[in-house]
Formats: sequence, structure tokens, C-alpha cells
Amino acid sequence: MKQLVADNRSKKFILLSSLQALIVYKPTHDYSYLLEVIILRDLFSKQLIESELRNPTEDFNLEKQKIEYRKELLTSRACRINVKRSERKKQAQTGMGYSELLELSTKNCYFCPANIKTATPMFPSSLVPEGRIKLGETTVFPNLFPFAKYHAVATVSRQHFLGIDEFTLKQIQDTIKASIEYFRAVALSDKKAVYPIFSWNFLPPAGASVVHPHVQLTVDEQPTNLAWLYLSACKRYFKKNKENYWKRLIDIEEKEGERFLGKIGGVSWITSYVPLGNDEICGVFDDVSSLHELEDTSISDLSKGLKRVFTAYSLYGVHSFNLSTFSASTRDESFRLVVRIIARPYPQSYYNNDAGFMERLHEEVIVESMPEKVASDVKEYFG
Ligand SMILES: [Zn+2]
Repeated sequence: MKQLVADNRSKKFILLSSLQALIVYKPTHDYSYLLEVIILRDLFSKQLIESELRNPTEDFNLEKQKIEYRKELLTSRACRINVKRSERKKQAQTGMGYSELLELSTKNCYFCPANIKTATPMFPSSLVPEGRIKLGETTVFPNLFPFAKYHAVATVSRQHFLGIDEFTLKQIQDTIKASIEYFRAVALSDKKAVYPIFSWNFLPPAGASVVHPHVQLTVDEQPTNLAWLYLSACKRYFKKNKENYWKRLIDIEEKEGERFLGKIGGVSWITSYVPLGNDEICGVFDDVSSLHELEDTSISDLSKGLKRVFTAYSLYGVHSFNLSTFSASTRDESFRLVVRIIARPYPQSYYNNDAGFMERLHEEVIVESMPEKVASDVKEYFG
């Protein structure tokens, strides 16, 4: 399974970053330890580095901390994992939690049933004749402060607050179904807006400005930066290998099991080798490449999976998350619809954000949970 390429200079050049590639050509120092790149199934690469320090909490004895530099070969997207970082003491934690959050946010909430009709915008009648889309407890309406050509909000529940494990299957299912109805309305009215995204910022640590559970729906003429990276890389991969990247990835993950959580209907669930955040869980559809293709069965499969993710997260101590989909514009044999969910800090009045200069300015995520460990911890909820 593992292939060491330390002696293969050409491969070294392809796999390492431009700086390290330069080092290969002008070896003035001993950087040989950087060259031990491990390739896993031609899908991923990994470098193991030890960082030395004299730890004041251990009588200044020399400590070696292990850092994994992981790369996804499809896109060259990288992350760094140091699980020791999860032990960091966070000064901002004060213990104030849900109660204060609820007390402050319940007053005059625009999304609560008493205010939603008067306080939320309505769609132009050319897009949605009734002004808003309603299904079960879900109401879909335009975002008051859009950041996309088409940007809507869909409430998940009538209740102002629900914990991560309190959403019912019907609430999740209706939310997705009503969202797809919105995407279809946009598709009928604007042939150029073809890239839909279904996203959920759950609670303020995940970026939600409103506590009341709601998802965000955007449709644009262009994919986002990362969606474009995946869509174009998957097209190149398909052309070169005559197979779908996601199918190959899931086949290998299922066979090897280290990050495979389970399959629910037409959706396989894994932890990502190169996560975009802590405790990332990823759902990959079998036979759907675009949100436009979702039908009742696939919506039900996705909802069941999400419910299990929320249960597992809750028991794993995760109470705030970001969720987003990566969708092709239409059916695409080189792509599969993917949903990615990452943990965010615990909701408190003051907390340490988990995004610093590496995430915001270098687009490289520092992760403090090992994907293989997360998989073994939460796997039982997907059986
Ligand atoms: Zn509310």
C-alpha cells in the first residue's frame, strides 16, 4: 500500500511544493528528511515531520511533536495535522454557554413563527408566485443580505433553538426538499445560474448570525473557487483514467475501511484524508452528480445520513458545524455530488476561533483531529 519514492527525483519534483522542489535542485542543506513522501494508492501523499521543542510543562525536556503534511493528489490541496494541538489551553473559554445565547437571541427573532411573515423578505413573483416556499416546518425566503445572484434562507424548524441531535428526520428532509424546490424555480427562470450550493452554518461559532436553525441556498453562474478546483480536476482525472474519481475513492475507502463510516442508501460516508477542518465527515453520492438531480429517495438517503452525523457529532462533543455541498451544474459522469461537514468551536460567549493566518491567508488548514481516529470513534453510528 505504501510506496516510498525517496530515490525517485522526478517524482519528488512533482509531489513537493515549489519551495521544496527548489531544494531538490539546489541542495545546500540537508533537507533529505523532507523528501520522504509516502504515496497512498495514487490518491494521497503524506510527509511525516517531527518538530522539536523543550517543553516548559515537561521540565523543558526535549519533546518531538509529530506533524503530518497531507496532500490530495487530485487537486494538490494540502493540510497539516498535529493532534497535540487539541490539548491547547484556550484562554477565551469562560463556561458561559447555551443559556445566555438563547436568552439574547430569542427576543424578536425574525425566523420565529410569530415574526417570519412580517420580518422576512419575499421572492419576486416571477421566481416564486407565492412569495415564499413552505413545506412542513420549513419556510424558504430571500436572504436580506445576499452574497450570490440567487441567495435564499430556509428555516429548519419552527422552534427557535434545537441542539445538534434534536432535529427530526422529517425536519431535515423537508428542509432539503423545499431547498431543491427553490433550486428548480431558479433553474426554470434563469438558464445561466446553474451552480447551486446547499449550506448550513449551525450556531454563531460556525458563522450563523441568527441562532434559529436555518440553511442557506445560493445559485450562481460560476462555481466557487474550491468547487471549480474539484470539478476541473475531476474532469482531467476522468479523461486520463477513464473512471470517476469519487467512485474510485469510495471503492478504496470501503475496501480499506480506515476512514469509511458506512453506506446509507445511495450515499457513502467517510472521514476525509485531507480535511478542510476538524472532525470532517463527507457524504458522497453513488449516482448523483448535481443537486438538480436529487429526488425523494436520494433526499431521504441524505437526510438519514445527516441525522447520523449530527448524533455522532453530539456524542463526540461537537455542537456547532459548517456543512456545504459540492455540485456539478448538471449530470456529469466525471463528478459526484459531495456534502462536507466540519466541526466548529463549542458555542460560548467567548471562544477561540479555529481559523488563523494559515486558514485565512494561506488557504492551508491546520487540523487537530486525526481523520482515521474520528472514523473509528463515530463509525458505530453509521452501521
Ligand atoms: Zn427564532
